[in-house]
Amino acid sequence: MAKITLDNLAHSYLPNPKGEDDFALKELNHVWNDGEAYALLGASGCGKSTLLNIISGLLHPSQGRILFDDVDVTAATTADRNIAQVFQFPVVYDTMSVRDNLAFPLKNRGSDPAYVAERVRKIAEMIGMEAELDRRARGLTADAKQKISLGRGMVREDVNALLFDEPLTVIDPHMKWELRTQLKSLHHEFGHTMIYVTHDQTEALTFADRVVVMYDGRVVQIGTPQELFEKPAHTFVGYFIGSPGMNVIPATVDGTTATVDGNAVPLGRSYGAVQGGATLGVRPEFVSLTDEGGLPVTVRRVEDVGRHRIVRADLFGNDINIVVGEGRAISPDMNRVVFDPAHVNVYVNEWRQEGEAV
Ligand code: ADP
Ligand code: MG
Repeated sequence: MAKITLDNLAHSYLPNPKGEDDFALKELNHVWNDGEAYALLGASGCGKSTLLNIISGLLHPSQGRILFDDVDVTAATTADRNIAQVFQFPVVYDTMSVRDNLAFPLKNRGSDPAYVAERVRKIAEMIGMEAELDRRARGLTADAKQKISLGRGMVREDVNALLFDEPLTVIDPHMKWELRTQLKSLHHEFGHTMIYVTHDQTEALTFADRVVVMYDGRVVQIGTPQELFEKPAHTFVGYFIGSPGMNVIPATVDGTTATVDGNAVPLGRSYGAVQGGATLGVRPEFVSLTDEGGLPVTVRRVEDVGRHRIVRADLFGNDINIVVGEGRAISPDMNRVVFDPAHVNVYVNEWRQEGEAV
């Protein structure tokens, strides 16, 4: 296992990149701690696979270095980096049995046959394929083949890191949850450094200790699920994580007060005199629907989503969502909203301002 350092890393698929827009991966400095489980989360096309393939050595970066435990591996092959990678679509040897597919990475390294047999048995159990070990991979469903790919990725205990690139895409929903749980227990057992790429926030938040959020080729925040929820560093993080995402409301900000369409909104921290416009970010969980105080809204509809209700409303021409907890009444005269000052974040040019405690 290894600590992985990305030093001044950037990548463009173009031979002569001109500006930042030409880079699929914008400049990045980051240390992946040894033994930690990370999720790499972002929308399709934001650069997740590009970053993962640079770490594994499938792709050579146009700029910067990759270090494993302080050894520069930028020029090293995937094999030399000693990494296991699982891709979105299955990679299996059709003519081999399931057993031989799973054993391949171990046999390839000359492992002891008794150890190989035991390890294959254990992995087969994890992916639920003990009964199919002697079947040929050809003719299996895409789902079963992907489980083999996952198993092969997990079979070696001595890798520096395990990289997963949206590995559950072709897996059926039932098995998804099961396999994700298995991956998590594998992490607890062996403590591998793991990077799990996904565009699904639920997958990211349940799998990882720490989530790396990417947007448009850039890492915009690295944090625990709680940090991403409470203090989204960029409006994209606020919007992308949460269901529904964070409300964003144009405002001006001076000290501890924001002004939204002429109405004062108290803030939990002090921001000095912010020049030009700002944006308030408030999660629907921290907005209360009430009949007095706060700001006027027009309620459009109420959705019952089981645990709570989501009120969809209009605030001075902006959409706003409010989460109303179970057992709390909603009446027609409730046409105002109050924000919890401690949970109002202030953004300038989409980036969160830290402000000062008051
Ligand atoms: P993600 O995995 O987050 O969906 P990718 O890393 O695959 O994103 O892609 C990031 C950007 O780089 C996208 O704009 C994509 O079109 C571009 N890209 C990916 N692979 C190549 C390639 N081999 N050649 C040129 N452009 C590519
Ligand atoms: Mg991808």
